Amino acid sequence: MPKPFDIAIAGAGIGGLTAALTLHARGHRVRVFEAVKAIEPLGVGINVLPHAVAVLSELGLADALDAVSIRTKEVVFANRFGQTIYADPRGAEGGYSHPQYSIHRGALQMLLLDAVRARIGAENLFTGARLQSFDQSETAIRAYFGEPNRSTSIDCDVLIAADGIHSVVRRKHHPGEGLPKWNGVMMWRGTTRAPAFLSGRSMVQAGHRDAKFVCYPIAQFDDGTALLNWIADIRVGDGSVPPGREDWNKPGRVEDLMPIFGDWRFDYLDVPQVIRAASAIFEFPMVDRDPLPCWSFGRVGLLGDAAHPMYPIGSNGATQAILDARAIADALSQHDEVEPALLAYDAARRPATSAIIEMNRREGLDAVLDLVHTRAPGGFNRLEDVVDPAEIARMIQAYKSAAGHRTQ
Ligand SMILES: Cc1cc2nc3c(=O)[nH]c(=O)nc-3n(C[C@H](O)[C@H](O)[C@H](O)COP(=O)(O)OP(=O)(O)OC[C@H]3O[C@@H](n4cnc5c(N)ncnc54)[C@H](O)[C@@H]3O)c2cc1C
Repeated sequence: MPKPFDIAIAGAGIGGLTAALTLHARGHRVRVFEAVKAIEPLGVGINVLPHAVAVLSELGLADALDAVSIRTKEVVFANRFGQTIYADPRGAEGGYSHPQYSIHRGALQMLLLDAVRARIGAENLFTGARLQSFDQSETAIRAYFGEPNRSTSIDCDVLIAADGIHSVVRRKHHPGEGLPKWNGVMMWRGTTRAPAFLSGRSMVQAGHRDAKFVCYPIAQFDDGTALLNWIADIRVGDGSVPPGREDWNKPGRVEDLMPIFGDWRFDYLDVPQVIRAASAIFEFPMVDRDPLPCWSFGRVGLLGDAAHPMYPIGSNGATQAILDARAIADALSQHDEVEPALLAYDAARRPATSAIIEMNRREGLDAVLDLVHTRAPGGFNRLEDVVDPAEIARMIQAYKSAAGHRTQ
């Protein structure tokens, strides 16, 4: 293997922590710098797709993942009455070599954090260390972390910016970009303990482009209940008026949801009841950024949401960050020099993630819901009277292929 590099990672989210582990596994020296003082298990549920689970399994994390998540059995696409349009099997049931996991984002982050502390050492994890700026020469990079007027500098060979949607590095290299782009949809997210539904491991995506309810379990209990994670999307505008700075922890209100979802009672899921019984609700606008013409700038590379924030359609947020982490470790382990390595990483990942950003702007998998809603807004007796089921299957397969799904 070429010589190991001294690598600094800004951001201890899902992407930054996974990159720390993949790079450490290849023998590089890694230090992680996180802006917040204490890393808390924030967020609600997310899904990690099988091809990203494969990366985490290679890191020896399969058992730990299994212990804190649900193996997603199927994704059920439904109309706003809960009538099934298509049930897409996932995990072993779908012929995948690895499971798809429904997991609390905070649980995944803590699992990765524990692995980083155990393998790389707590002394290489710095909190309260916000990346402020950096300078690079042909041979090294100097990065400044901390508070604006009290930052300390470190020297390294490579700086990986895994600092999320408001990335400092991205802003420096693309200064005219401005705020993230909003499509006018507001997302409310919550978790609720409620009776398990369908297979007990099903994710349902119901509704249409203006109102959608997504729900899946992230924990099961012996009494037949589950901790359900849910996301309620409502199109509240055309996106032309900025929604304000997005904040993953901004509280949301039940009253904003009931006018739309108040009568969404399915045979197997009482949507208004699930919303009302939530332990907490958060509100976040559906935002992304335009695909970039390049991600690597000499000795600096973007990763995860810093590189390709995208609408959360198709469970790609954490998944694509994990795939980036694998790719950047591969590239930095196959080249003697940093710059060509980061260019190879850019070439390996940027086109694929740019395509997902664009697909999600065209509604991604939600296009299936819209097709049926447009043709049968009041529901249907037989799906075949509304749409050819083979057409639905083709649409879903096309999206999955572009997003990198691979079955055995
Ligand atoms: C608090 C929080 C809650 C979230 N909740 C959800 C959720 O419920 N559902 C969902 O789909 N997605 C959620 N996300 C986003 C999701 O985690 C990402 O889309 C995806 O996992 C890609 O991860 P990432 O590591 O690229 O970015 P992120 O997960 O956003 O992580 C970026 C990390 O970088 C840190 N950081 C930011 N600026 C700097 C800086 N200048 N220097 C050093 N560190 C910095 C942040 O504190 C954060 O820890 C959440 C993100 C955060 C930060």
